[in-house]
Formats: sequence, C-alpha cells, structure tokens
Amino acid sequence: MRFSGWRVLKEGLTGNKGWAPHWRDPEPQPEYDVVIIGGGGHGLATAYNLAKEHGITNVAVLEKGYLGGGNVGRNTTIVRANYYLPGNSEFYSHSLKQWEGLEEELNYNVMMSQRGQIMVYHNDGQRDAMVRRGNAIINQGDDAELLSREALRKLVPILNYDNARFPIMGGLLQRRAGTARHDAVAWGFARGADQRGVDLIQNCEVTGIDVENGKVRGVQTSRGVIRAKKVALAAAGRSGQVAAMAGLRLPIESHVLQAFVSEGIKPVLDHVVSFAEGHLYVSQSDKGGLVFGSYLDFYSSYAARGNLPMVEHTMETCVSMVPALAKAKVLRSWGGIMDMTPDGSPIIDHSGIEGLYLNCGWCYGGFKAIPGSGNAYAHLIATDRPHGAATKFKLDRFRSGQGLMDEEGTGAQHNLH
Ligand SMILES: Cc1cc2nc3c(=O)[nH]c(=O)nc-3n(C[C@H](O)[C@H](O)[C@H](O)COP(=O)(O)OP(=O)(O)OC[C@H]3O[C@@H](n4cnc5c(N)ncnc54)[C@H](O)[C@@H]3O)c2cc1C
Repeated sequence: MRFSGWRVLKEGLTGNKGWAPHWRDPEPQPEYDVVIIGGGGHGLATAYNLAKEHGITNVAVLEKGYLGGGNVGRNTTIVRANYYLPGNSEFYSHSLKQWEGLEEELNYNVMMSQRGQIMVYHNDGQRDAMVRRGNAIINQGDDAELLSREALRKLVPILNYDNARFPIMGGLLQRRAGTARHDAVAWGFARGADQRGVDLIQNCEVTGIDVENGKVRGVQTSRGVIRAKKVALAAAGRSGQVAAMAGLRLPIESHVLQAFVSEGIKPVLDHVVSFAEGHLYVSQSDKGGLVFGSYLDFYSSYAARGNLPMVEHTMETCVSMVPALAKAKVLRSWGGIMDMTPDGSPIIDHSGIEGLYLNCGWCYGGFKAIPGSGNAYAHLIATDRPHGAATKFKLDRFRSGQGLMDEEGTGAQHNLH
C-alpha cells in the first residue's frame, strides 16, 4: 500500500475502507539470522536497513511492549547536525542527510520540519565556543551561522534579551535543523521493515541471552526460545540490563529525562531554540503546543517519570528566557529512560562476544541519530566492519580512555552530559 494525495482523496470519498494495517502481527519463528532486541527507533531503523541495504530479511525485532512505546515516542523531536567533535560531527552530519530524504524513501509523512535550530549564547565565553563549534560544523560540510543579538531578535522577538543575570547576546543558527514527528518515524521504519519481510514481534520481552563458547546462540523470551546467528541490542535506557543477560557490564547509567507540552497557542516561535544557561530547549508543535525540556533529573532510575525539582527548574528557566510564556498552561509531562555514557557519546560496536552487537549510549540525543544509526548499525551487523560515519563509536574507549568524545567538556560523569 502506497500513500499519496490521490490515495487520501480516494479513501476519503469511499469511506476509508481500503486502508490496511501498517505491519503484520507474526508469531515468532524458532530461528532467525538476526534478532534485534528493542522496537524503538534504532531497532526498527536497523531492521529496515538490514533488509533494504544488505538483503538480510530473516530478521526479527523483539519488543517487550508496543512498537514506538519507548523513548522514540517520548522525546522532544529535535533533529540537528551541529556537533563539535570529530566522531560525533561526521556521524550526525550523515544522519541529517538521511533525514532529508526519509519521507520519500519510506513513503511516509514523518512531518520533517527544517525550521532551524538556534543555540543562544549569553556571554563572551559562550560566544567564542559557538564560533569554534560553527567553524567545525562548516568544516564538516554542514551549515552554521553566527547571529548577532539584533539578527537573533529579528528571528525570535519573543525572548528576554535583557535578563539581568543571563542577557542574550546572540545565537548559532543551523537552518537545516528542526523537528520531526517522533512516533511517525517509528511507524515509517516499522512499515518499511515489515514490507521487506522483517518480523516485528510485540509483547515479546527478552529475558535471557544464550551464549555458548563465546558465541551468541539466541535469546530467551516471554514467548519462548528464539535461536539466532546474530543478536543486536537496541534497548536504549534498558541497555545495561539487557547486556547483563550476556554477562556484560556496560559503561552506561540510566537516568530520567522529562519533557513538557503546553496548551496550544497561536504561533509565537518559528524555530527550535536552546539556551546554554539552564539548558532549556523549546519549540512549537504544529498543533500550537510548546514542547520543552531541560536537564536530566540527576539520579539513576528506570522509572519513565520525573520529579518536581526538575519541573520547577524547567519552568523557572522557561519563564526567565521567554517571560511571555508564563501565562501558558502546561498540559502534560512525562519522562524517558536515558542510556548515559561517561563521555555523552554513543556506542555502535561488537560486544566482544561473537555475534552479539551493541547500539546504545545515545544519551538524550538519540532521536536525531535514528536514520544514521540504523544505517550504520545494519552495516556493522551485516559486514562485521564499522560504517564509515561511525568508526569512533567504540566500546573500548571507556576502558583505554583513547578516543573519548566529551562533547560537553564535563568529564566522565554520566549525569553531567
Ligand atoms: C524526554 C526526552 C526528550 C528527548 N529529546 C530528544 C531530542 O529532542 N532529540 C534527540 O535527538 N533525542 C532526544 N531524546 C533521546 C531519544 O529519544 C533517545 O536517545 C532514543 O529514542 C533512544 O533510542 P530508541 O528510539 O531506539 O529507544 P526506545 O524507543 O526506548 O527503544 C528501545 C526499546 O527497547 C525495548 N526493550 C527494552 N528492554 C527490552 C527487552 N528486555 N526485551 C524487548 N524489548 C526491550 C523498550 O521497550 C523500547 O521500546 C529524548 C529523550 C527523552 C526521554
């Protein structure tokens, strides 16, 4: 079934009776070439790429809940390629290029909106850091523009430029950055993978990973044993727990990150805006709600909900930076479990156990990574060699200390990234 304007028109005129389910609901088979643990953005994009790019279709994605019920459907949907350090820079550049052709490729409207993202700066030191970052982004081949205070004011007049403590001095704009509809990304990849023969198995929790003589043999699940030549982790916030099933201890801590949505208001914000002070990011959804968030809750947890101190901090920062929003009512908030690495950068690598692969440590930046990660992880699984855009995402860097990508300059502390 292909989506098109004509199809929508035809279905509208004939009672919408011709739509088919987006994917099948298959029973798990006893054996697969590849089993992927986790039906979030990364697992689904990987399955899609295995089938499409490498012709590997005897694949199952095992999801303990429902597809897209994890962080892929819980994030603030920011997509950008403005990372600073080698390793991250080329990877996110690769991923943004994939985003730009994604809707045509998947024949699915993921509501990609390249409305631009602006990182606001408040002092000379931050401005200098933005200049360095902007140059690195341009050297990588992506776009970056340093905005003066007046140029920024023209684009985003609603900000509090004269905040006594954190006056706004300007910003770094990436015009190709923006937002996409998060769950549509999961559904689009799921549909694409299913169409190519991948089994998407929901309500199937992996409870054990079978390893014999240093080689993976399959997984134990709530729906029985499934044998597999290769097993690929894509369990995001649960990565540490799932890897422990194979006897691995990952350099991952799980932390809570909250997000908030206000009532719908008239258009006031055309861009995604991030503030260096207070670490606030805010955009306006197509329905008019302001979507915003800030820091982690700063304690390890597997609970997909947050606590009031971070709610208070986020509201304070939001009202300080955009005082006009003080009257908007917050409609809902939620939390997601983040897989935090010590350097704030991800892992796409062999696990050290033959046939067992790792994709984790996306911290709070893994939504924008989904198309690039699916592409790179599938390449690793299919060829046993790292994809050219993801050569630095090695597990070993946390043992040796070589090749750490400490993007925030905060050191090896998970909850500071
Ligand atoms: C509030 C919030 C805001 C964010 N904002 C942004 C943003 O603006 N931009 C950005 O780039 N990133 C953002 N992120 C981060 C991003 O959402 C994540 O890094 C990314 O979604 C994680 O990858 P995923 O989609 O594969 O994870 P998930 O969707 O969580 O997928 C992992 C899946 O594994 C399943 N699973 C776990 N254990 C098992 C098991 N034992 N058996 C079977 N299945 C299992 C889970 O149920 C889950 O569905 C945000 C995250 C949160 C929580």
